[in-house]
Amino acid sequence: MFNETNKIPANKLDRGFYKYQNEFENKALEVLRSGWYVLGNEVTQFEKEFAQYNNAKYCVGLASGLDALWIAFRILGIGKGDEVIVQGNTYIASVMGITINGATPVFVEPDEYFNIDASKIESKITDKTKAILVVHLYGQASNMEPIMKLAKKYNLRVVEDCAQSHGAKFNGKNTGTFGDIGCFSFYPSKNLGAFGDAGAIVTDNPEIMEAVKVFRNYGSEKRYYNRVVGTNSRLDELQAGLLRVRLSHMQELEDEKRAICERYLREIKNNLIELPKIRTGATHIWHQFVIRCEKRNELIQYLDKKGVGSIIHYPIPPHLSEAYRYLGLPKGSLPITEKYADTVLSIPLFVGMTKEEQDHVIETINSFCD
Ligand SMILES: *Cc1c(COP(=O)(O)O)cnc(C)c1O
Repeated sequence: MFNETNKIPANKLDRGFYKYQNEFENKALEVLRSGWYVLGNEVTQFEKEFAQYNNAKYCVGLASGLDALWIAFRILGIGKGDEVIVQGNTYIASVMGITINGATPVFVEPDEYFNIDASKIESKITDKTKAILVVHLYGQASNMEPIMKLAKKYNLRVVEDCAQSHGAKFNGKNTGTFGDIGCFSFYPSKNLGAFGDAGAIVTDNPEIMEAVKVFRNYGSEKRYYNRVVGTNSRLDELQAGLLRVRLSHMQELEDEKRAICERYLREIKNNLIELPKIRTGATHIWHQFVIRCEKRNELIQYLDKKGVGSIIHYPIPPHLSEAYRYLGLPKGSLPITEKYADTVLSIPLFVGMTKEEQDHVIETINSFCD
């Protein structure tokens, strides 16, 4: 049934479209026929609904998740000469959000849940430290209690990278609402995905909300009156409208992915495979189901032959990428981060995945041996 040419891919985005095809198509036509395409009613409504979804006061729509990150640091005045603490094992956009403004990332090793190890933050704080960027990686909320305590003690800003954690909570509170600014991406593969690029920030601070609103539109509040040198990072009506459709089904979408992952956790049994763990108090919205395997290359080849796709998030940690060679952090400087980069593997997980596909993924992984 499944083989090398007829593979179960790691992700399959069209299934998520067909699930609500009529609603998406009707909304697209509605926007196309409206004659208003950028920063309009759909954006305003989406911002309201997404703020509410997160139990945040405000949301400002932007053009991407990376924009949300760098604009967040820009608005907080964090740049040249400043240091920002971030986990070593993140997607490189987290780090670019820091360095685009000229600030320096200071990497901390992850814990066993793939998030920042809060017990290793304090020793990295210096006079230059201005903020902690918390990444809720793969969909699981980070250990926010000790992180917020440290931020308070050292008077640090907290920015949250929620690109993978829409709706995830720590002790009942939404990721993105612990710190000063929560940054979201709606890249198509994210749990709340658009049909193109899109992003947003959430905040409870009205000054930050106002500043981001002005900044995203060339620094102008009123047309042709420019207060600051801003950028163009506007959310368009089509994406906002389509996001509203998806947002209205978020619980169902989250439940569907959770059910698949609960099966994986229950039914994948192989001594060569380490399954993901969930921290007490944290919820996981399963952006990715990430296993670890010392024999990863052999596993990938085996899965491939049996028609099971997989993908590595992420094979090269930011500090070892060419882009950040200038930081001067050689191989071996973040051993846990590097170990994860060498052993993690995301297995197929997407909305609309059939029972047969899930069965085959489980059976194939269980039959992998030395
Ligand atoms: C996707 C992602 C981003 C960047 O979002 P874009 O919308 O692609 O710019 C940032 N951080 C993390 C953790 C991500 O997964």
